[in-house]
Amino acid sequence: MNVLVINAGSSSLKYQLYDMRDESVLAKGKVERIGMDTAILTHEPAAKPEVREVSEILEHTAAIRKVLGMLTHPQHGVLERISDIGAVGHRVVHGGETFSGSVIVDEEVKREIRRLFDLAPLHNPAHMLGIQAVEANLPDVPQVVVFDTAFHQTMPARAFLYAIPMVLYRRHKIRRYGFHGTSHAYVSERAAAFLGKPYDQLKIVTCHIGNGASCTAVLNGKSIDTSMGMTPLEGLMMGTRSGDIDPAVVPYIMAKEELSVGEVSSMLNKHSGLIAISGISSDVREVTEAMEKGDRIAGFAFEMYCYRIRKYIGAYAAAMNGIDALVFTAGVGENSAPVREVVCRELTFLGVELDEERNRTGHGKERLISKDGSKVDVLVIPTNEEWVIARDTYALVSGGQVPAADAAAEKLPWRQPLDS
Ligand code: ADP
Repeated sequence: MNVLVINAGSSSLKYQLYDMRDESVLAKGKVERIGMDTAILTHEPAAKPEVREVSEILEHTAAIRKVLGMLTHPQHGVLERISDIGAVGHRVVHGGETFSGSVIVDEEVKREIRRLFDLAPLHNPAHMLGIQAVEANLPDVPQVVVFDTAFHQTMPARAFLYAIPMVLYRRHKIRRYGFHGTSHAYVSERAAAFLGKPYDQLKIVTCHIGNGASCTAVLNGKSIDTSMGMTPLEGLMMGTRSGDIDPAVVPYIMAKEELSVGEVSSMLNKHSGLIAISGISSDVREVTEAMEKGDRIAGFAFEMYCYRIRKYIGAYAAAMNGIDALVFTAGVGENSAPVREVVCRELTFLGVELDEERNRTGHGKERLISKDGSKVDVLVIPTNEEWVIARDTYALVSGGQVPAADAAAEKLPWRQPLDS
């Protein structure tokens, strides 16, 4: 069966087509600038040259139509006919407390994703557009949704609750959800397999460091804490996001700078983090380059970025009473030897001993980068969220099971809230 994986954003849509017989990628690509008359479709068929087309694509249904046209194109295509697509899998950012695993899309699932629009206003509405666009073009093809939050549904209440009046959790479901779950689950499981150790007996800290970044404590195969919160803004310092900040700073800035809610939110999400501190770029490559040329501010921003990662690793080692393995993944985690080096430099108290040579070689492969005999195994595991989505989709539509995270059905010690 061929499975089409879709990651729909508000003005973009990425796709990857898998042949599940051998799990090979037949083609991948993206549509950018949806809504404009100069939308760009970039299509990369396996073993054929890349194609780039600029045309008017005003909404997602038209974008999917274009993609399907390209997949079956006589010259650039990889399928004979559209009916060769057996199922479609979607990445969905927010599954709230409802979804602790992947599910087949039906009317109830769509209603629930809509109910979660409030929690992920930038993401879930766009994913819904993607689901509807597939429905319009491929009405008989089953669809599956795979949630970024699902893996973290095992977090205990002491990790997912904020210390604010409980009534806010009850009324509005304000809590930590965590993101990048598909990636944290995949790389932690791969790390255990790589080490030849039982996944359900390991203490692993996973660092997904891309444009967005998060750390997760994976204890015995389950997420027990993660650095992103109700939204992806909390936690690490990121390319353009502030990460952790004293919440009192927000109203203070709003008053002093006369900023609106939208303006302060945009500042924290789009104009903070690495770009704000370095004044150069949100891209670790550019900041590293400047640092290596002697730019002291870039050097400082780089140190601060790595320091924040190191603090979370320490916190999660404490949360699990130890750490067996540390995993780096995503754009920065997989590719930046300097980031991994600086993060690990002062983790020797935990027993982390990085091997400089291993850290700098073996690019693109799953590998161990700690010294033989290091108390903590440090690994680089390239993430592959699309493959997980394809695998779950295939399993569900073939009538199989996808193990859901064993959600913490913890009985919370409620007092009757006075004003509920
Ligand atoms: P996202 O999915 O969050 O957009 P990715 O995981 O693709 O992000 O990571 C993108 C980021 O990876 C880029 O912004 C860039 O900073 C970083 N990156 C890619 N290659 C390198 C590299 N060789 N060295 C340092 N950083 C890199």
